[in-house]
Amino acid sequence: MFLENAKKAGWIEVICGSMFSGKTEELIRRLKRAKFANLRVEIFKPMIDVRYSLEEVVSHDSNSIRSTPVDSSASILLYATDVDVVAIDEAQFFDSGIIDVCQKLAASGVRVIVAGLDMDYLGKPFGPMPSLMAVAEYVTKVHAICVRCGNLAHHSHRLTKSDKLVVLGEKESYEPICRHCFNALTGQHSQES
Ligand code: ZN
Repeated sequence: MFLENAKKAGWIEVICGSMFSGKTEELIRRLKRAKFANLRVEIFKPMIDVRYSLEEVVSHDSNSIRSTPVDSSASILLYATDVDVVAIDEAQFFDSGIIDVCQKLAASGVRVIVAGLDMDYLGKPFGPMPSLMAVAEYVTKVHAICVRCGNLAHHSHRLTKSDKLVVLGEKESYEPICRHCFNALTGQHSQES
């Protein structure tokens, strides 16, 4: 699907979905393939995501790969020199400058792989993700399984009462649920009017 033998290098791939949908696992899978091909890979994530480790992209199944935490999108351009592939994890937490950063990297011949939550816990498009999906050549939406009915899930339902947009958490804070269970729980998009 991805043109690992493309004639002209430089494009953007987005991997998006809800919590527990396997975004980071898919990111790591692609990066391992790039490393097998002897490509130079750099991985960045926002400083805000310090759940496990400052220096590793860690997925929920502890499949990990080293990364560089950065305080803003502009820092990525400073660090991403002499690389073939730039990966960005938890991209939803970056400032809007991340869109231009990805475009510049792709224009300079870098394969950019961006992973992030496409919606916040309210079901709203999350930060720069919708714009990144618009400018990307390839968008892959991965799904979790709804813990309430078994459908494909694309919402991250928050189980705590906090109304902060950013609550970094694990299984105790969120559950993946489908559109219909989300609507039933939140009262959104009811068919009755
Ligand atoms: Zn459901």
